[in-house]
Amino acid sequence: MTIPHGDLLYEGKAKRIYASDSDHQVLVEFKNDATAFNAQKKAQLDDKGRLNCQISACLFELLEAQNIPTHYQGLVNDTWMAVQQVAVIPVEVVLRNTATGSLCRETPIPQGTSLDPALLDLYYKDDGLGDPLLTDARLALLGVVSVEMRDRIEVLARRVNAVLIPFFRSVDLQLVDFKLELGVNATGDLLVADEISPDTCRLWDLRSADENERILDKDRFRQDLGGVIEAYGEVCKRVQGACPKPRIWG
Ligand code: C5P
Repeated sequence: MTIPHGDLLYEGKAKRIYASDSDHQVLVEFKNDATAFNAQKKAQLDDKGRLNCQISACLFELLEAQNIPTHYQGLVNDTWMAVQQVAVIPVEVVLRNTATGSLCRETPIPQGTSLDPALLDLYYKDDGLGDPLLTDARLALLGVVSVEMRDRIEVLARRVNAVLIPFFRSVDLQLVDFKLELGVNATGDLLVADEISPDTCRLWDLRSADENERILDKDRFRQDLGGVIEAYGEVCKRVQGACPKPRIWG
């Protein structure tokens, strides 16, 4: 199906952003491209775009229902959604509930350590620099966000975590960690933007005790575990089974 859209505004690793004919709105197309390790590893995974689009739509609506503002406006079709245009804050916001990934590579913290309260890590969004971890002092030095905005980011990210943890647990998924991108809209509101999907969340299947089998997220791609789309499909099935059907835009 061809979607009427305006100019291509931006193409990222997993999505294209197009202008729409409404003010302050853009259209997001979710692609099947999979990338890892700062795009050094690449593949095409049939159906990934649809799965991430559908999962994100459900999760954005779940957040909205808890009064957490997101950029999401509605689905356009299987792989496209309409969103509010935002100025994306060039900081990747990572919340970790369980230690794994870069935290365990970069520190002696053992794999699987429970982190309560969740650990908030901020990274500077810059592929050329490899998205470096920021200290609060470096964040202030860079001047990309004010101290007040940094605190708003943390409060919003922790609210998202507080909604997502019990939701995923209700469908037998452990929310290990996740990355958010946040943006500011035309009226100055801070919104959850980008996507929330197995590309951006680590999700472990509570129905499996096997350390590899339980992985239902992009780590299957990163670690060459196979069954990437099957894992994303399982997450989609469980999420959709626990959420109302997402609204269609327009
Ligand atoms: O690699 P690391 O352990 O720091 O990742 C933490 C979380 O952030 C994981 O869920 C990962 O998928 C997500 N992430 C992301 N995009 C990045 C870096 C991390 O979605 N550029």
